[in-house]
Amino acid sequence: MKKQYDFFILGAGLAGILLAYRLALSNKKVIIIDAKGVAEGASSTPLALANPATGRFAKKSYKSKEALDSIALILEGKEHILSSFVKKKKLIRPCFDIEIAEKTSKNVEVDNWENGSAEWLTKEEITHRFPLINESFGGLIVHNSYVFNPAAYLKYLLSEMRKYDCDVLEGINYQTTFEKDKQSWRIETETDIYTAGQLIHCTGHEMAHKKNVPGVAIKGQTISVSLNKKHSKSKEWTAFLSEYSISAQGYLCTLDQNEWVMGSTYEHRFNTTDPDESGLKYLTNKLKRISDELPNMVHVNNQWAGVRYSSPDRKPIIGTIDTEKKEHIFRGLASKGILYAHLYSKSMHDYLLYDHALPKEVTIDRYPL
Ligand SMILES: Cc1cc2nc3c(=O)[nH]c(=O)nc-3n(C[C@H](O)[C@H](O)[C@H](O)COP(=O)(O)OP(=O)(O)OC[C@H]3O[C@@H](n4cnc5c(N)ncnc54)[C@H](O)[C@@H]3O)c2cc1C
Repeated sequence: MKKQYDFFILGAGLAGILLAYRLALSNKKVIIIDAKGVAEGASSTPLALANPATGRFAKKSYKSKEALDSIALILEGKEHILSSFVKKKKLIRPCFDIEIAEKTSKNVEVDNWENGSAEWLTKEEITHRFPLINESFGGLIVHNSYVFNPAAYLKYLLSEMRKYDCDVLEGINYQTTFEKDKQSWRIETETDIYTAGQLIHCTGHEMAHKKNVPGVAIKGQTISVSLNKKHSKSKEWTAFLSEYSISAQGYLCTLDQNEWVMGSTYEHRFNTTDPDESGLKYLTNKLKRISDELPNMVHVNNQWAGVRYSSPDRKPIIGTIDTEKKEHIFRGLASKGILYAHLYSKSMHDYLLYDHALPKEVTIDRYPL
């Protein structure tokens, strides 16, 4: 039996599912196919931040207000249902290096954060307000940030989409062909045949087409740790992390009091995509950098590794790779998947359904194919 859809989406990570969710809400029939499974790529990171401050010197991320607004719009009215896997929290970025502190404070001055959504704390202020953290040279507080459990969140969006005419195929082998005479895509699995008018590659760091889209794959690792509740400062840390996440060239955050996540490594050269000893050591050192006492207060439960895909300018890559075949791409979310999947899935949705122009900063046309 042939099943017909409007859109095939290849890849069930943040890019694929947010786009599919938006298309489904516009009454389009969507089928998502993931070679492995839902949120089994980079989007399976145990926890991720919607972090509007970027890089070593905490520059305000481009379009960060629009991106945070687009998250708020999707979450609106669902906060209660989502409360165990998405939480709004403040983000603190202590600067443990004097050069980083100087550059970050200058950035805060010029970045024009909307309505005091971020503020610079001097060395004295940060020490006074956050005595648990190692002494620093000052730091930034961002008031509007989120912690996500991406996999749980994506599974929730999928359950909502199933109320519409949408399907997901996981962990299967399939063949795609463009049927020129019918002007449509055909996907064949061992048991079924599906057709759809358009195809979108949301395959993260893996290339599922032949066009040469530029970018690099960067491995990242996280550790999940539990707090030793007998430690004298455990209550103070628990209270602190229920209100704040910490980002200090690596992030520490939690959604439930029992499990904290420390991420992430940035590995441009790697022989294995598995977690390894050097990742564990690096992340334990990061814990120590935040507070000397942390490594002795926690034990490691889990270690995780994933690969994120980054374009040369670290902005997503969106657009059409073959106009005749109606074949498109949405990838390159790099280390800001939460922030930008929400924003640019809306741009991609409006482009596909209403032919709206794509934002210049992310269109694939900026790279000659
Ligand atoms: C350690 C680490 C920490 C991170 N922390 C943060 C953070 O704090 N905040 C943040 O915003 N972002 C963070 N990120 C980045 C974020 O996870 C990614 O930007 C995001 O998950 C990318 O989503 P994606 O949908 O593009 O790719 P993926 O999630 O990788 O999804 C791609 C999917 O495509 C599937 N696929 C591949 N090839 C095929 C094929 N041929 N056919 C069908 N399916 C295919 C894969 O199985 C996969 O499920 C982190 C990433 C890592 C690795």
